[in-house]
Amino acid sequence: MIKQSSAGIYSWLPLGFKVMKKIEKIVREEQNKIGAQEILMPTIQSSEIWKESGRYDDYGDEMLRIKDRQDREMLYGPTNEELVTDIFRSSIKSYKSLPQLLYHIQWKFRDEVRPRFGIMRCREFYMKDAYSFDLNDDEAVFSYNKFFLSYLKTFKRLELTAIPMAADTGPIGGNLSHEFIILADTGESKIFTDKRIFDLDSEGSIIEKKSLENLRKKYERFYSVTDEKFDKEEFEKEVDKENRLITKGIEVGHIFYFGDKYSKALNAAVDLPDGKKDYVKMGSYGIGVSRLVGAIIEAKYDDKKEIMKWPLSIAPYELAIIPMINKNDTSTLEKASKILKHLENNNIDTIIDDTDENLSSKIKKFNLIGVPNQIIIGKKSEGDTIEFKEIGKDTQNLTIEQIIKILTEQKANN
Ligand code: ATP
Ligand code: MG
Repeated sequence: MIKQSSAGIYSWLPLGFKVMKKIEKIVREEQNKIGAQEILMPTIQSSEIWKESGRYDDYGDEMLRIKDRQDREMLYGPTNEELVTDIFRSSIKSYKSLPQLLYHIQWKFRDEVRPRFGIMRCREFYMKDAYSFDLNDDEAVFSYNKFFLSYLKTFKRLELTAIPMAADTGPIGGNLSHEFIILADTGESKIFTDKRIFDLDSEGSIIEKKSLENLRKKYERFYSVTDEKFDKEEFEKEVDKENRLITKGIEVGHIFYFGDKYSKALNAAVDLPDGKKDYVKMGSYGIGVSRLVGAIIEAKYDDKKEIMKWPLSIAPYELAIIPMINKNDTSTLEKASKILKHLENNNIDTIIDDTDENLSSKIKKFNLIGVPNQIIIGKKSEGDTIEFKEIGKDTQNLTIEQIIKILTEQKANN
């Protein structure tokens, strides 16, 4: 799926790349649904705007600083508040053009002290980051809540339970922030939460001010924080013993409202109806698209760590054909190719394992790769029926038509 090329820097190989692109597509669709518009900003930025915002010195060693041939100070973007504010101030002059919700999906570089857990904490990573621009706090919180909703929906489509947790705003500053965290034993974040938050749902929420405010409040009623914000006394007071959950998780998204922190520093103001000018109120909203590939694997293992199953919507393939291959007998491979044609004609994205490893090790391998369905063609496979298995379930002997029906239904239900 991936290959490390140097510390914290990875190449994306066919399987991993397919998964990441499918995650990206879902993330994009959910951004578009709340009215955010996609743009693409460069990875290499000039230091000028960072000097203007005052973060060029503050950002420290995590920023990769580069000089071009004219000796100009450049950098590989760790985040894009400055760049997007510069775009905004050069294009938007009036309150009439607000709100603006802009996002891009782009590589970031942060020279992390300790890159670890593969793509979960690396130096070069793929992120969706969005930025909102509004006239006042009230409108800005509305934008914030739109992203809050879109994050719940995005993670749900990825079949993850991501809990929004009140977070510190850290070096970005401001006063409203949530981290979206999924439970996983291997996670880096220690979390303290009220179990009842898992029963909540974003179902039925509409993009309307009051209803979104209520949605966020519904979640905020339950105690849920990471260790940065943990307060033992408060936790024990607010959560009954049987509902307390202390565990670990992976941060997959993070949203912030920071008011006019950057718009003031970078002079991004709009004309108001009364002829005056005011700085716009901004928020930023990140999703770790490449981290999600690893995070979903962590969340989708079985207890014994022998089976991992991708959600169908992001699986690298829908089905794997696993034939037993004999050097002197090509009949199983021929049968596999015939089945493949049939499946492809029905738009089932299929891979054949044509390696000459033995059958059981191929099956084990595919149980870990996580392609959700398998067709196994063994020595005994004769006649019209084929061994079919949705991984994690029992094997069935079915005709190709029956298999196609099952797969088509899986897709329709997705
Ligand atoms: P963290 O707390 O994990 O260091 P952060 O708060 O610095 O992350 P943000 O700036 O909010 O991260 O970035 C948005 C998202 O990008 C995070 O929620 C995470 O999913 C992802 N991300 C951040 N840093 C990395 C990294 N080093 N490797 C992979 N993904 C990352
Ligand atoms: Mg964070």
